[in-house]
Amino acid sequence: MHLILVINAGSSSIKCALMAIDAQGLVKECARGQVDGIGHEAEFSMRFADGHKDIKEAMPTGVKMSHKEALSVILKSVDDTFGLSALIGAGHRIVHGGPNFVKPTKLDSASIAELRKLIPLAPLHQPHNLAAVESLRELLPELPQIACFDTAFHATIPDIARNFALPKALIEKGIKRYGFHGISYHYIAEAFAHNDPERARSRVIVAHLGNGASLCGMINRQSVATTMGFSALDGLMMGTRTGSIDPAVIFYLMREEKMTPDAVEKLLYNQSGLLGVSGLSNDIRTLRKAAAESADARLALSMFTYRVIREISSIAAALNGLDALIFTAGIGENDPQLRAEVIKGLSHLGLTLNESANSKRDYQISSSTHPAAFVIPTNEEAMIARATLSILPDC
Ligand code: AMP
Repeated sequence: MHLILVINAGSSSIKCALMAIDAQGLVKECARGQVDGIGHEAEFSMRFADGHKDIKEAMPTGVKMSHKEALSVILKSVDDTFGLSALIGAGHRIVHGGPNFVKPTKLDSASIAELRKLIPLAPLHQPHNLAAVESLRELLPELPQIACFDTAFHATIPDIARNFALPKALIEKGIKRYGFHGISYHYIAEAFAHNDPERARSRVIVAHLGNGASLCGMINRQSVATTMGFSALDGLMMGTRTGSIDPAVIFYLMREEKMTPDAVEKLLYNQSGLLGVSGLSNDIRTLRKAAAESADARLALSMFTYRVIREISSIAAALNGLDALIFTAGIGENDPQLRAEVIKGLSHLGLTLNESANSKRDYQISSSTHPAAFVIPTNEEAMIARATLSILPDC
């Protein structure tokens, strides 16, 4: 059996998936797990696709687990279940590839050093992504490791959509829109092309609506516009992030509220969005339940929906029309009310809802066929495994 270990390392958790490669070179998920609570008292869980007992165990109390220790726990379970010799490579989700890393890349000392230079562009994610890479190199030095970048899919965005209206010297220093969720968009672009090759060549908007949320406008499977920008803070309102906000609010908070840059950053990333507006939760399921009693929950939900409708309309203008809208990620795949309200809000583009298809979460959820709306579950782990497999022969 040949396995690829897919790693998505954050500040307090490492998510992993084990993808088996079959004789045709296709990837099939055989386990998915995570260590939560890194830096604190951690917990490890792993679910297997078949035949093996699921694992859920708390790490010894009082132990503050590092990324390296968390990876050791994951590797031990791989070893116990399949044997470490089954591993042929590891694929990492790396949030930022900067302007130069636009394809899956082998992680060696030189590329890791270049990726370290990008930490200022993604200080909340890149260091943790790279900590996992370096820990895995120490634990399994011979295992080829591959980086897949959340920014890479957006390398095709033209300057008109990429650049800020800043002096050229600053743009040349890399202060421009990069876009994120690119691994998910790449997966959806391939899945849609597989289902509907003709339409995938036309004007498509993918709405990746999860705890982090963004949109991507594509023509012929290539990204031409996206709502996230220099950081993953821009664009849509999210679970705990503001999305786009008048930058003058930030100067005001610093001058008048005496907030430090770190405090403003925490406010905009962690304390705003659905959570901040509702005062209750970043989870849309909790807000739906609370909506009957809580005006703040209703406002948070309506603002989220309103922003999605406005931004889809804006990207449709950039594409000069719309042929397909695709919903994906936690909210996009699972919240029929959000999808229904968004489609109704886009009647000006010619979209009409098929109520029953939407409530059953069929593949096509619009009664209009041009444009049409679809739901496609994303699978970033499968995309990373495929990308890893594609460059393993060169490693
Ligand atoms: P993601 O970041 O893609 O994992 O999405 C996480 C978000 O998706 C959660 O915070 C919820 O708001 C939403 N979500 C997940 N499962 C469901 C569900 N079954 N119904 C409605 N919303 C869901």
